[in-house]
Amino acid sequence: IPRPLPLWLNTACAKHIVKGNFMTLSARPKTVDPGEWVAHQVVEHYRNLWNFVRVIHEKEEDGSSICNPNTCPKMSAGKNHSYTWLNRNHEPVELPAYEYMTLMQRWMSGKIDDPALFPTDPDTVGFALHPEYTSNALQQQQGGEDWLGARSGFPKQLGSTCQLIFRQIFRVYAHLYWDHFVEPFYHLNLEKQLNSCFSHFILTATTLDMLQPAELEPMQYLIDLWAADGTFPPESRPYAYANVERGRYIQSLGTSA
Ligand SMILES: [Zn+2]
Repeated sequence: IPRPLPLWLNTACAKHIVKGNFMTLSARPKTVDPGEWVAHQVVEHYRNLWNFVRVIHEKEEDGSSICNPNTCPKMSAGKNHSYTWLNRNHEPVELPAYEYMTLMQRWMSGKIDDPALFPTDPDTVGFALHPEYTSNALQQQQGGEDWLGARSGFPKQLGSTCQLIFRQIFRVYAHLYWDHFVEPFYHLNLEKQLNSCFSHFILTATTLDMLQPAELEPMQYLIDLWAADGTFPPESRPYAYANVERGRYIQSLGTSA
């Protein structure tokens, strides 16, 4: 556990706006096609994230930004983690966080604005076949040609593209927490919003299997804390990935500080 304890691991700062049944937020309505649901979640979480990124990434009138190559020479998430960007030749390159997020935003909005990948026309919204009406004939028709979103006309790469987007969103959240939590988010009183969006994101991404336990490592302590304080209920996926004992210990550290 990092000492001194980062402010975002302090129980008083790990709170949320929404109290209530959090699980229903990321439960897919039975009538909505799974592919449609994943696509919808990707777009929503990307938009949530960008509201926070804008705060540190947008340039002031004098051309400066809160996140810049001096403050963040790497796309880091604490001392032990930094992320590389794959260049045109698929070689990993180390970039300042500012530049990393610029490229990532360009890449993600290119995907999200691609109508073939993320149809925005409400008329194209597909519905899952009601299990009672699903005859064997229908299932056979689909044969081996079934993939996430196939039924609603999504392309085959929907699942893998969404996984990449979820992974990038996670990296940016990790950078926001490790390097920008106090300044500016805590000072702007935005930490509850940030916690709400991030915990919702973690719940969704793990429930949909879009993030694997090993990928969560840079934010593991916060996930432990949120399992211990009841943010993630015992029946949720992130709770299963958490070390609840350690979460309770972090809770005790945070309240005595
Ligand atoms: Zn930064």
